[in-house]
Amino acid sequence: MKIIEDIVSLFAQRGDSLYGGELISQRDHALQAATLAENENATPLLIVAALLHDIGHLVHDLPENASNQGVDDKHESVGEAYLESTFGDQVATPVRLHVSAKRYLCAADDDYLACLSEASQVSLHLQGGPFTVAEMNEFESLRYWRDAVRLRRWDDLAKVEGVVTPSIEHFKDYMRDILETQNS
Ligand code: FE
Repeated sequence: MKIIEDIVSLFAQRGDSLYGGELISQRDHALQAATLAENENATPLLIVAALLHDIGHLVHDLPENASNQGVDDKHESVGEAYLESTFGDQVATPVRLHVSAKRYLCAADDDYLACLSEASQVSLHLQGGPFTVAEMNEFESLRYWRDAVRLRRWDDLAKVEGVVTPSIEHFKDYMRDILETQNS
């Protein structure tokens, strides 16, 4: 279960960094997203995906405000690569797709774009802007696209200062359960 300890120490060492352009830390953002997933009775796989969807921000060495400097850090691909071999594709794929899911929702839901935070609107353009109809159709043909959309909505809501959540210790059991199932 080394990866669980690695993840806990990544959050301990780098989790205080601000979540790109927002007023909360990476740790609080991750814990809020996972708590929202848990409150909606999501599966352990999706709760863990919510917790770790931005792990790519913690494992790479780009500055926190990369997107303000016009750099797309591709954190969704970094996160997928980090998670896939241990947690499997039901965790890693929604993580990879959570940025595409934003582009999808901008096209599919008229109210969505207006709800995005300012930082998220800035990065949207670096990420390619709202999907075209053809891109939406393609997205809907991907495995786990619905999970990615659910994850995205928690991601967008998980930016509130001062919300009390369980600590990362609470979510370790979900990670352990997944690893045990993968390896049994
Ligand atoms: Fe996020």
